Amino acid sequence: MATPSGQNAGMSGRFAPSPTGELHLGNLRTALVAWLAARSAGRGFLVRMEDLDRVTSSPEHERRQLDDLAALGLDWDGEVLRQSDRFELYRREIERLRIDGRVYECFCTRREIRAEIDAAAHAPHVHLPDGAYPGTCRDLTADERAEHIASGRRPAMRLRAGGEVLEFDDLVHGHMDGVVDDVVLARADGVPAYNLAVVVDDAAQGVTQVCRGDDLLTSTPRQILLQRLLGLATPQYLHVPLVLGADGQRLAKRHGAVTLADLRAQGSSAAEVVSVLARSLGLANPGEIVTADVLVERFEPECLPRTPAHLADLYPTTL
Ligand SMILES: [Zn+2]
Repeated sequence: MATPSGQNAGMSGRFAPSPTGELHLGNLRTALVAWLAARSAGRGFLVRMEDLDRVTSSPEHERRQLDDLAALGLDWDGEVLRQSDRFELYRREIERLRIDGRVYECFCTRREIRAEIDAAAHAPHVHLPDGAYPGTCRDLTADERAEHIASGRRPAMRLRAGGEVLEFDDLVHGHMDGVVDDVVLARADGVPAYNLAVVVDDAAQGVTQVCRGDDLLTSTPRQILLQRLLGLATPQYLHVPLVLGADGQRLAKRHGAVTLADLRAQGSSAAEVVSVLARSLGLANPGEIVTADVLVERFEPECLPRTPAHLADLYPTTL
């Protein structure tokens, strides 16, 4: 198979949506920034479908997402990679971590983990991110593991993170750090987990700049630790503030006309949508119609807004 040009360049940005629904304005805005960050630096730009969840992902959603990117003038290099084609690769990397003593079996249900976190809330403990796994199964004996298996439970695989604190510099948010929890590497049903797959794919694809929504800032220390344990390079990070609905929650379908299809149905052209997104990023003037190509010249990552955008500021009339 031919190597996509973005991989030849060895320096790429990427956009990696989950094909589980339509892209909304927040997703499209992040895609625009990712594309501008890559193209303005002469990098390749890759699109990857994060379809680890085979139940919620669909080819129909994938097709519509790709159509939306193309309609906004965001082109990509090479073929679109699908995580669902790469489970064997992820499993090999988990096996490498296991051989290094970095993996353990976790038999906890979601409910048990929640109860454990609630019970520990008042006790003194090392500061972990919200919802972090408290380490219940970290040191199970062989007998305890056998007991769980005999009772019919199948284990998830977790990373033995060792409570490490990881630091990194983000182009938008500046210097950040965070404690890494014992993140899941593979679910109990054997499906590889998000953080592992992302790290493996970014390295395999030559992604040197990761631009994504800043709801993933807290996952970045986990991914950097996994990069180090697997001997992979750490890319540059750029986390874009989200678009929020009128209720202050991250944008979703219920907030009204938030997809390209919705906005087109209301009479907006793709060019107008690009222009609205550009204005919210400080890259265009009110009323100015721009194309993505024109914005490449104007783009400077350090000038991006550091606070969330609001749908009401983008589209006062859709509310
Ligand atoms: Zn457990």
